[in-house]
Amino acid sequence: MEKVSTLFRKPLAVDEAVIRVQEATGKGRTETVPLYRANGRILAMDLIATHDVPAFNKSPYDGFAVRSADLLRASRDEPVTLPVQYVQGAGHVGEPLREGQAIRIMTGAKIPAGADAVVMLELVQADERVVTFKRPARDANISYRGEDMATGTNIVDRGTRINPGVIALLATFGYEQVDVYVKPHITVFATGDELVEPGQKKADGQIYNSNAYMILAQIEALGGAATYGGILPDTFASTKQAIAEALQTSDAIVTTGGVSVGDFDYLPDVYDALGATVLFNKVGMRPGSVTTVAHVENRLLFGLSGNPSACFVGTELFVGTYMKTLFGQAERPVILAELGVDFPKPNPFDRFVRGHVTIDATGQTVVHPSGKDKSGIVSSLATCNALIHLPGGTRGFQKGDSVRCRIIDQL
Ligand code: AMP
Ligand code: MG
Repeated sequence: MEKVSTLFRKPLAVDEAVIRVQEATGKGRTETVPLYRANGRILAMDLIATHDVPAFNKSPYDGFAVRSADLLRASRDEPVTLPVQYVQGAGHVGEPLREGQAIRIMTGAKIPAGADAVVMLELVQADERVVTFKRPARDANISYRGEDMATGTNIVDRGTRINPGVIALLATFGYEQVDVYVKPHITVFATGDELVEPGQKKADGQIYNSNAYMILAQIEALGGAATYGGILPDTFASTKQAIAEALQTSDAIVTTGGVSVGDFDYLPDVYDALGATVLFNKVGMRPGSVTTVAHVENRLLFGLSGNPSACFVGTELFVGTYMKTLFGQAERPVILAELGVDFPKPNPFDRFVRGHVTIDATGQTVVHPSGKDKSGIVSSLATCNALIHLPGGTRGFQKGDSVRCRIIDQL
């Protein structure tokens, strides 16, 4: 089959390419999972406080619930002794506090009606009576209803990745099940006759397939369900068949390699043969200018460059945008950081340099390129926690210049 001409491609601005991906992405579906399965999932509802927390005034200490008015004159020299009316454990409620008496109370127990202070066990002498040496302030040692969270407060936004703290909040409000986004099912293929799977024997001229495993990990980290489809040989027929098959069971397909203008780069022809609409096939960015995204029947096809750095950036930018759109999430945070070294290369197009952001001893946020800046470079990926975004049409940058950094991992 004759190749569709890919030689002339008009580059699209990165921001525009991102918008096209957003527009082609539908809304994520949601499902309900038990609370104990929800960690790491993306919350598909705003978490609103459905009751006050605490839900009742309660004691933060073990001690005695008292009326402060009964202890107005209590002091070390003239202690006041109160009989203990009863003992109240957490989870139990009892009679109102009578004047001139005290109720032994445990941490977490509801403050009995009539009491307005708690004296700590450590500060009294107690048996069936309690001897107090100090006048408590009114309201002393009471955790008040609603002081943590008041009914109706929006506690966690939809789109938040559920972590152990969010789990605690969900349980606090009694959720035994949670609405979360369905993980998009994404199949990942590597392409290229030179590729060998890790663990296999590698002959001269061959390389290990690293991109597919990197993409699988990136997708998992973004909250998706990734399936590995294997290495596709550089032939049109096998590539088309594998992608057509995977489309039956995937929300999106990511391929790496074969999307450029080489003699064996068959992805553009495959998209064409599948009747896919190409959103763009060239982006004004480095690395990864050949990145192609197409869509067919509500499914997205991400054709990423085979160059490892370009592939990494392409996954982060475009597959990342797809998933954030599905989940209704905000874009990655962008911060300004001081460039730690000169970056003399001119930037005819937007450049995404793999970077490592740190905060130095003076509190200044500094970013260094995390390795060599070439699209085929793998070594810069491991320590990369940000993409330094140098706008197109700029000359080189110098040490000390303020640059925009898209934070993609923990600092
Ligand atoms: P391509 O985009 O297919 O022209 O590949 C560009 C470069 O990336 C070539 O040097 C390939 O050998 C390399 N490459 C392609 N796929 C992978 C992969 N899965 N893992 C590592 N390197 C790759
Ligand atoms: Mg190739």
